[in-house]
Amino acid sequence: MNINKSIEFFKRSKVSMPGGVNSPVRAFSTVSSNPPFIKKAKGPYLWDVDNNKYIDYVGSWGPMILGHAQGDVIKAIKNMSTNGTSFGAPTENEFILAEMIVDRVPGCDMVRLVSSGTEATMSTLRLARGVKQKNKIIKFSGCYHGHSDSLLIESGSGTLTHGVPSTPGITEGTAKDTLIAEFNNINSVKTLFDRYSKEIAAVIIEPVNGNTGCIPPKNNFLCELRALCDVHKTILIFDEVITGFRLSRGGASEYYSVVPDLYAFGKIIGGGMPIGAYGGKRELMEHISPSGLIYQAGTLSGNPISVISGITTLQNLTSEVYEELENLGKYFQFKMQDIIDSYSYDLFQQRVGSMYSLYFCKGPINNVNDVLSHDKEKFIKYFQGLINEGIYIAPSQYEISFISYSHTYNIIDKTIDKIKKVLEKVM
Ligand code: PMP
Repeated sequence: MNINKSIEFFKRSKVSMPGGVNSPVRAFSTVSSNPPFIKKAKGPYLWDVDNNKYIDYVGSWGPMILGHAQGDVIKAIKNMSTNGTSFGAPTENEFILAEMIVDRVPGCDMVRLVSSGTEATMSTLRLARGVKQKNKIIKFSGCYHGHSDSLLIESGSGTLTHGVPSTPGITEGTAKDTLIAEFNNINSVKTLFDRYSKEIAAVIIEPVNGNTGCIPPKNNFLCELRALCDVHKTILIFDEVITGFRLSRGGASEYYSVVPDLYAFGKIIGGGMPIGAYGGKRELMEHISPSGLIYQAGTLSGNPISVISGITTLQNLTSEVYEELENLGKYFQFKMQDIIDSYSYDLFQQRVGSMYSLYFCKGPINNVNDVLSHDKEKFIKYFQGLINEGIYIAPSQYEISFISYSHTYNIIDKTIDKIKKVLEKVM
């Protein structure tokens, strides 16, 4: 595959932009590859500046659930933009989008729109801390909630108590207020509550851990977490930036029948335009300024183009679409299992709805510790092989693949044939 123009572009962009990109994972450094520079997308396809065509399983990291450049969404964006692109004043469509979210998501009475998932999760923490007048929060290792200081913390080796910053630039003071538990291990949460019960304002979790591949919650894990938060009068926050409006009309909370106190959303509610939102119980949300004292604001919050793009995307997400996404996901998994079994590969796959991951290690995968032993070299070769065959997946074993409504069974068959060919070389 010729990617000469992308190579030249990457060289040039590195001079004026750190690492040549505006978000680190796009640099493909973990897979020793030059990222293709993308010039357009339609449905399940991407085209790069060298005119190579890819079947896309990244979907802009989650928002493109209907496929790229979906007709209704593009039309709505075009129409809206002729009336202006930002007013910094209230608009009708903001409360329409808020009502659509409230209508769909269990226990979500009110919503504040922001501009990214990072802003959404960060704001839920301020709200929880402000209401509870407590400083500490619990997060789970392997869960990513954006790049705000309190949440860019991971577990230190062997410890499940105080987190350690995942990056320079986070103060010790901040890190000490983030406690780290293990996903799918309720005892690790109990231990933290036993030790810090009076200091914990909130527990934040991705209900499906979509930033360590695809790790579903085991059996009653989310129910037990809900019960534990109730006992300790702690606010439970579901970060549904990925799962929201993807797993079902009401997201993961509807899918698993567990209702948190607060939610963070992003990605799909902007249909590919920048957005985020947080919401939840009315008695909590009314603490937000200007109805309450807890401050949070944004110049571009509720941007009219993002909002209309989100409204149109949600309008298109009918029950038939969710059924088809489940069927497409099931089909992909079934076809892959056939390859894994017939070659006895040391591979393991996990899927929930249209969220999918193939692990280069033995399963089951219950939390990030189970992925640490994955075969990095094989994954890199697999990634490079796939991209050369025109299959675009995320450049990391810790990222998820997304199937969109525009991926047909035919396209999946084509993908599986390529995967089979690449695995024969790699394994
Ligand atoms: N929460 C989750 C679960 C995410 O996956 C992400 C981003 N991938 C974020 C929060 C942060 O969202 P954003 O990149 O829009 O700030």
